[in-house]
Amino acid sequence: MTPSDLPWYRRTLRWGQTNLTEKDPARYDAEWWRSHWRRTRVQGVIVNAGGIVAYYPSEHPLQHRAAFLGDGDLYGDIVRAAREEGLAVLARMDSNRAEEAFYVEHPDWFAIDRDGRPYRAGELFVACVNGPYYREYLPSVLEEIIRRSAPDGLTDNSWSGLDRDHICYCGSCRQGFRADAGLDLPRSPDWDDLAYRRWIEWGYAQRLAVWDLNNEVSMRAGGPDCLWIGMNAGDVSSQSRRFRDHKAICERTPILMLDSQYRHEHAGFQANGDSGKLLHGLLGWDALIPESTAMYDAGTPTFRLGSKPAPEARMWAVEGFAAGIQPWWHHIGSVHEDRRQYATAEPLFGWHEDHQDVLLDRDPLASVGVLWSQRSIDFHGRGQAETRSMQPYRGFTDALVRARIPYLPVHADHVARDAQRFAVLVVPNVGALSDAQCDQLRAYAEGGGGLVVSGESSGYDVWGDRRDDLALADLLGVHATWRHHGDDEAPIASWESYAGHTYLRIDETRDPKELAAGFDETDLLPFGGRLEVVRVDADVNVALTWVPPFPIYPPEKSWMATPRTDLAAVVTRALPGGSRVAYLAADVDRGYARHHHPDHGRLLANLVRWAAHDDVPLAVEGAGVVDCHLYRKDEALVLHLVNLDQGGAWRGRLQELTPSGPFAVRVRVPTDLTPTRASFLVGGSETALSRDDGWVSFGVDRIADHEVVVLD
Ligand SMILES: [Zn+2]
Repeated sequence: MTPSDLPWYRRTLRWGQTNLTEKDPARYDAEWWRSHWRRTRVQGVIVNAGGIVAYYPSEHPLQHRAAFLGDGDLYGDIVRAAREEGLAVLARMDSNRAEEAFYVEHPDWFAIDRDGRPYRAGELFVACVNGPYYREYLPSVLEEIIRRSAPDGLTDNSWSGLDRDHICYCGSCRQGFRADAGLDLPRSPDWDDLAYRRWIEWGYAQRLAVWDLNNEVSMRAGGPDCLWIGMNAGDVSSQSRRFRDHKAICERTPILMLDSQYRHEHAGFQANGDSGKLLHGLLGWDALIPESTAMYDAGTPTFRLGSKPAPEARMWAVEGFAAGIQPWWHHIGSVHEDRRQYATAEPLFGWHEDHQDVLLDRDPLASVGVLWSQRSIDFHGRGQAETRSMQPYRGFTDALVRARIPYLPVHADHVARDAQRFAVLVVPNVGALSDAQCDQLRAYAEGGGGLVVSGESSGYDVWGDRRDDLALADLLGVHATWRHHGDDEAPIASWESYAGHTYLRIDETRDPKELAAGFDETDLLPFGGRLEVVRVDADVNVALTWVPPFPIYPPEKSWMATPRTDLAAVVTRALPGGSRVAYLAADVDRGYARHHHPDHGRLLANLVRWAAHDDVPLAVEGAGVVDCHLYRKDEALVLHLVNLDQGGAWRGRLQELTPSGPFAVRVRVPTDLTPTRASFLVGGSETALSRDDGWVSFGVDRIADHEVVVLD
């Protein structure tokens, strides 16, 4: 099959989006944008069609026409131009709110609070996803758009309606929830309330119903490839807040339009690589995941009409490339006085086109899996998902990035499916696990796989109700007491009231020795976090213990009244089948996400290496933070090295790229491959490989933003 025979969602590798404002019908320069499409090598465009604002003359009188549209059809004009350029077209909707005139006509189509007041977003009214607006009116708008312009597919910016902190009490919700759950709507968000729990599940199901309905309508009107594909976020907790079930959505679509536009300070550029890997784990590695990347100055604060510094946009994009994400430029409005943003995409997209074959449809080589579960983020994380779920996950993955250990996210339902590729699975405070999920983990460990488990993992059922003991207690040799020391909230930085002045003591036997690597000259590690108080079985090795808090001020009082306890902080256990399991009672993972203390990162990486029997297919030496992604692509290996050491002393936008290097790289080669050379797709040179006992080695002199090395 040649690329042109493939459906649009398999062959459109670069996208552009000029996100129209109501002013644009009066000023859109069609010729300029056509030449920009060509310059940036895009193969598809996303064009505003309807929803809150229509950019075509709709027959629906209540669909608000853009203020400057007049009798024009800017949407249709852009679609025609795109077709002349041979581009794929997605019609973009933004559907979840409407003008007052619409509300006045159909007040019962809109979301209301418990007192019957409509939910407002500025001057607009928020439509209810369960009412006729979403279930009848919007489908007829989709049909109209498809009839007029035959787009390849349709997207929607905000398709999932109100978030879970806002309960809608409209007639559709009251009746629908009663019919499905047999209950009245919950009175307020309360995770202990049965009605709220059922409402959360019902909310997810209703969004999937919207997804399915829109696809049914689109395919009926536009043919089997006319997909409706919404938009989705990269961060799982943000998907949770909006009732978007990542796994169920990915089971429904061959392509995901990723609306994850920029780096957030707490998560770093590496978060984009994590999103790509996590989503490919659900969609398959042959699927496309285009990602809207802000060319405008998105971030904190955001300037819709400013230009994002090019190094900042580049780093986000190349981290995406490393994880199989495709580029998609995004401007707000069609005319800009800050024209610098127009120059960012061209070199990035040109490089992507030159090397697109190497960047797609690859098989990742990673020996470490990191477990995640949206259900746990919901029902264990509850209102504190960032602290309870996201930080422990990010702490481990940041530590793996820092240690240059490639990893892949693994959904808690996919352990049996995926685990054979991993030497170790990390379970970062995944509190709510079903019995079946725990059985999969148990079978994996009993089959020889390593496990590193932290905090409250497996301590809760699928509703977030606490079990009597950790469900994995038998495997770990550790039992919950449900008491803890310290706090999972960030410590207050006052020396007078500081209760986080705690340490971890390394046992003098230094067993296992891999765990103590790099700590030869210290018996103590700083801690400062939360310790789960656990009982340990007799055959469990207590590698680190907890030292209770003592004053940091005044300095005269800064000595240990209790220099040692028998409270386990990190334990290890060897299973009869050869598997190594470890449990962290101390939330070093959460702490590393917060503070990036080098000792915490080293301890986490040491634990993972130990449990994996040091089975890691890559070694990179040289100073710096480098995110490493290793793949097999047919008969070659492809290694992405993303230089994250960028202006690290400063917060905010990146002003310039800071090159790092040199690096000495070693890669373990699958037994059926015999690569002889390394080609550098960014640096542009080639070098011969030296081979030694199943590994090849080579040097990388300099990495400005990223390097991609093909070994063949
Ligand atoms: Zn409602």
